[in-house]
Amino acid sequence: MTKDLNFTYLVRNSVYINLTNRCPCSCTFCLRNNADGVFGSGSLWLEHEPTVEEVCQSLDSWKLDQYDEVVFCGYGEPTVRLDALLKIAQYIRSKSNVKIRINTNGLTDLIWKEKTASKLQGLVDVVSISLNASNKEKYLELTRSKFGINSYDAMLQFAQDCVKYVPKVVMTIVDVVTSPEEQKECEKICRERGITLRIRPYEP
Ligand code: SF4
Repeated sequence: MTKDLNFTYLVRNSVYINLTNRCPCSCTFCLRNNADGVFGSGSLWLEHEPTVEEVCQSLDSWKLDQYDEVVFCGYGEPTVRLDALLKIAQYIRSKSNVKIRINTNGLTDLIWKEKTASKLQGLVDVVSISLNASNKEKYLELTRSKFGINSYDAMLQFAQDCVKYVPKVVMTIVDVVTSPEEQKECEKICRERGITLRIRPYEP
């Protein structure tokens, strides 16, 4: 495994931020199982977790207004570093009108042992949360979350809370690990909560 200092990288026309390699899950379909990076990003395995200053410096090398979004994603769960994420989002807001998105497993409240969705208000435009499955058992089977069987309900509650504080909330499932019946169930779960479901292709 090679490592370098890839704190920001380009995916299609968006700038991605790689804050951490830590994650409370170990998903069966995680891209980290297959490769060191995505879309020519170079290795996303970090030598060290970047400081807020290092990420802001890295962001300064991009003309942010030219891109569709800045996305907190990377090779780990970005909300493991929620405080840093919020400071960096503030920095982006201070210098650009670019949209800010978080891709998250939605387990933030379990990670921090408190309600967290309200902290995103005014700083984040889109939250994309991995729904993964239509029930807690399947979810745990797929994600192998260290928080166990309570993870699914906590993730759904976080998603519901986000609807109050973030302009756009999307939930995602991966096509190859969900059956058509499962996908219908997931659509229903999202519809009931006023959330858009995105069935995303598996990108090995
Ligand atoms: S939550 Fe994301 S980063 Fe974490 S193991 Fe699952 S797919 Fe990988």
